[in-house]
Amino acid sequence: MTERTAAASHVGRVRSNNQDSGYAGTHLFVVADGMGGHAGGDVASALAIQAIAQTDARFDTAEEARDALEQALLTANGELAETVFEHPELTGMGTTVSGLVRVGERMALAHIGDSRIYLLRDGEFTQVTKDHTFVQRLVDSGRITPEEAAEHPRRSVLMRVLGDVDISPEIDTDVLETMPGDRWLLCSDGLSGYVDDERIAEILTENADAEAAVDALIQASLDNGAPDNVTVLVVGVDDDESSGVSSPIMVGSAAKPLSFRPVEEKRASKSLPQLLLHPLKPTPDPEDEHFEPESEEFLRELIAEDRRRKIRRRVTWSVGLVLIISLIAAALTAGYQWTQTRFFVGEVDGRVAIFQGVQQNAGPIPLSSVYQETSIDLMALTPFSRNAVEQTISADDLIDALAIIERLRREAER
Ligand code: CA
Repeated sequence: MTERTAAASHVGRVRSNNQDSGYAGTHLFVVADGMGGHAGGDVASALAIQAIAQTDARFDTAEEARDALEQALLTANGELAETVFEHPELTGMGTTVSGLVRVGERMALAHIGDSRIYLLRDGEFTQVTKDHTFVQRLVDSGRITPEEAAEHPRRSVLMRVLGDVDISPEIDTDVLETMPGDRWLLCSDGLSGYVDDERIAEILTENADAEAAVDALIQASLDNGAPDNVTVLVVGVDDDESSGVSSPIMVGSAAKPLSFRPVEEKRASKSLPQLLLHPLKPTPDPEDEHFEPESEEFLRELIAEDRRRKIRRRVTWSVGLVLIISLIAAALTAGYQWTQTRFFVGEVDGRVAIFQGVQQNAGPIPLSSVYQETSIDLMALTPFSRNAVEQTISADDLIDALAIIERLRREAER
C-alpha cells in the first residue's frame, strides 16, 4: 500500500549528534532544527516538538488550529527559557519550528527560523515559508540576489528562533487551501541547504510513496555530503479528512530521552539580578556557527561585515578600472604627442599653409592645427601643385615642410 505521509531524520555524515526533531501525527506535522552548544540543540528541538505535539487534535476551523499552533510555539519558547534557567549550561540553545495542522481542505501553518515548508501541486513546486535568516533580509532589501544568498558565508545565521533570547518571538502564521493530490514537504536546512529545489521536486515527483520519497530525499542530501542533520516529512492529501499516520511518529532527538543533566550548584548561586536579566541576555556559543541571537550589536557587526566585503569587491574593481583607464590615457597621450612631431602642407582660405600633426582625425578630435600661414595664393600654382596642396602634402619634419613651401613659392612667382 502506498503511504501518503512519512517522516525520517538522519544525523548526516559530519555531525556527531542529531539536533533535529520531527513529528508526524494525525492532524499535526512539524519539523524543528535545534542549535546551541553543550548538547543544547537536541534538547531545544526535542522540548519544542514534545510541547507542540499536544496540538495534534481535531479542530473545527483552520483559524482555531492556526491560533493553537502559534500558542504552542510560544509555550515551547517559554519552556525553553525556563529550561535554560534550570540548566544554565544550556544557555543560548534555540530551535526553528515549521508546522502544519490539517483541518479538512485547509492547512494551518506556523513557522519560525529557516526550516522550510514546500507544496507540490499539479507538478508545481513552491516554497511556502520564508527563511528568517540574515541573508534573506539582505535579499529582501535588494542588497544581494537569491543566488548570492545561497553562497553567502553567513547564510545560516538566523534572525528569529524559539529559545531563551526573546520572550515573545515573532511567528509567521497562515491558513492555506489544500486539495487531494497536494503533497506538502517539511524539512530542515540539512536538506534544503544542500539539495536544490529543482532536484527536491524531481525526487518527490518520482516517488509517489511518501516513505520512499523521504528516504530518497535524505539519500540525496547524504550523496551531497550531508554536513548537517537532515529531517524530512512528506504529507500527502487525499479525499480523507486527515493526512495522518496510523500511529504518531517522532523522529530525531525528540525520539530519544533527553540527555542533559541538572546543574544544581549553579542554580543555587544564581542571584536576583541574573534572574531578571536572564531572558533578554543572549550568550552566543562561539563553537556553534548556526545560532546567532538577534542582538542589535551583533546584527550591526554582520551588516558592517557585509558592507566591507562589498566595498573590498568595489575597490578591487575600481583599482582595475583606474589602471585600465590610465593605460589607455597614456597610450593616447603618447600617440597624440607623436602626431605633433609630424607636419604637412595644405591650404587655408585659398592660401598655402603648414600644419602640425597628421592629416587624419581621431573621431571628432582634430590631430592637426595650422602651424604657419603663407601668402602663397593657391591660384598662382600649377593645377598639379594646386591639387597636391588641396589633397595635402606630407612632410617628414618642419624643415621638410619649409622646403616644400619654398618650392611652391618659387613656382608661384614664376
Ligand atoms: Ca540544520
